[in-house]
Amino acid sequence: MRLPSRALGSPYPMWYRICAYIDAVIGSSHSARRSRIAASVAAISASRSSSRRFAPVGVPRSDVMLQCYPLTMPERRTSRTLAVVTSRFRLGEADRVLTLISPDRGKFKAIAKGVRKPTSRLGGGVEPFAELEVALAAGRTFDVVTQVQPQRVWLGLRGRLLSSAVAWYAAELVERATSEEQPEPELYALLLRAWDLLEAGVPDVLVARWSELALLDAAGHAPELDHCVDCGRAPQEGEALRWDERAGGIHCMNHGEGAPFSSDGLRLLRALRRFAPEQLAALRLPSGPLQEVDRALRAAILNLYGREPKSRTFLDEVSA
Ligand SMILES: [Zn+2]
Repeated sequence: MRLPSRALGSPYPMWYRICAYIDAVIGSSHSARRSRIAASVAAISASRSSSRRFAPVGVPRSDVMLQCYPLTMPERRTSRTLAVVTSRFRLGEADRVLTLISPDRGKFKAIAKGVRKPTSRLGGGVEPFAELEVALAAGRTFDVVTQVQPQRVWLGLRGRLLSSAVAWYAAELVERATSEEQPEPELYALLLRAWDLLEAGVPDVLVARWSELALLDAAGHAPELDHCVDCGRAPQEGEALRWDERAGGIHCMNHGEGAPFSSDGLRLLRALRRFAPEQLAALRLPSGPLQEVDRALRAAILNLYGREPKSRTFLDEVSA
């Protein structure tokens, strides 16, 4: 039967509070009430169609009970979505709280109960670097993962330390830019693209820089690379510049503040935006401009989030 709580527009906890309130007011036992409801089942359809939810003074109490108590326990709201696990932490003896991002739901948290037990059916399914079809049941605080079906697994990342460090870094960048319960398909696609590039063997450092710039662009903080953010003049070939992440891009040397930034660094940044990383992978990129671009994008990410992603520290350690 259709649950009256939906008609009330309230979640189930509120629904039970309402019923508990009526219990206290009326003061009769639950089982006796259920028996009377079963005996009066023929009257239920008439009660359901009624818009009256609370009995005014003088209305028989059986009328109130018919409207408030379902004959069966309410079903848990369930859903399915594609998602990737971007972070997780342990909860209690055997559970994990997962942070997932999904193309149609954005960022959300869910509990994987018993997942750390060796016998768990979910265990292998919620490992990193996989796109999962996740079945969820609505929980009190977070949704509960009831079933996991891997759709794609980036197995090649799991055995390569530097690639997996870049993959986690890309995941944290995307996770932090993704809003909760808001569809962000572009950011989701960006993360899967970064994992594809790593698995295809595109150099890790190139994927890391591409992920940073693509994330800034997709998150609405695209750095200005074509004109001075102060005077609007296009820089000449070979001209020395400044990088000012707080102003949002390049400066002439005469305007504003920021670290010195070479025209070679600017050329590499523009190439990262313009060309597919697979095309750049075929080129021999000089280390000087790569380091300049690393510093510039790192500063831009720090400026965007207010602190460095935790996975960036790990990436630095394994890159050293
Ligand atoms: Zn200028």
